[in-house]
Amino acid sequence: MNEIFLEMIGADPEQFAIIKRAEISKEFDIIVYGPLGKTLNPERDLNGASRRALTLAFILALTLVSEVEAPNVIDTPLGMMSGYVKRSVLRTAIQKSAQLILFLTHDEISGCEEILDEAAGVVVTLTNPAHYPKMLVNDPHFTEQTILACDCTHRDECQLCQRRVDAEADVEVSI
Ligand SMILES: [Zn+2]
Repeated sequence: MNEIFLEMIGADPEQFAIIKRAEISKEFDIIVYGPLGKTLNPERDLNGASRRALTLAFILALTLVSEVEAPNVIDTPLGMMSGYVKRSVLRTAIQKSAQLILFLTHDEISGCEEILDEAAGVVVTLTNPAHYPKMLVNDPHFTEQTILACDCTHRDECQLCQRRVDAEADVEVSI
């Protein structure tokens, strides 16, 4: 877990200087160490992106240790992240997973497009028709609660999923 975690946050020099190591205790608590072996309080000493990276590193490490080849399904893993850390977390998650299924918003995808171009096997766009007219451009003519899927990738849009410029859409990416 330590290796995966440090790989993920390595791109964040500010946090990397504070966080030296992370490990799991015999009681299955996650312990984070700072300089001089001082224990850190993740709630207080880590920023949101590092806390999220720590959680993901824990999940990925558990999967690797279990030696079970199963898909990792993760909902909005890149929220609260930006820039290098976001890209680094995505790359590491792809690299450490047998099969990765991610639910990503357009905001999360932003800046990571070429990583998805390279790694994504199947990309599906999920649209909530209740988002018309506030976020969707076209009326999907659905009155019941449902989620509609189309084959658009993070680079396309169609009549169904076309969003207003400042709106968000959920996209499922299967790698
Ligand atoms: Zn579409």
